[in-house]
Amino acid sequence: MTTSDHKKVFKQLKVKQAVLGKYIKNNAPKKRSCGVNLRKCRRCGRVRGHVSKYGLNLCRQCFRDIATKLGFKKYNWGS
Ligand SMILES: [Zn+2]
Repeated sequence: MTTSDHKKVFKQLKVKQAVLGKYIKNNAPKKRSCGVNLRKCRRCGRVRGHVSKYGLNLCRQCFRDIATKLGFKKYNWGS
């Protein structure tokens, strides 16, 4: 089980229907109405280092990877 998707364990529990029922009842993540955990990176699903400015909804690592493809330009003031 990962934080990204608790449903991954469903595949293993498919043959054990009673256990699956208990798992869903007791281990399903709480539905959130607000908070950091709702704002996930749309590229990788990371919750930390989120950039929502300009409607990007990316984490800082993904933003760094694809910023130039999106049209962002890094100006070099030093030289
Ligand atoms: Zn990301």
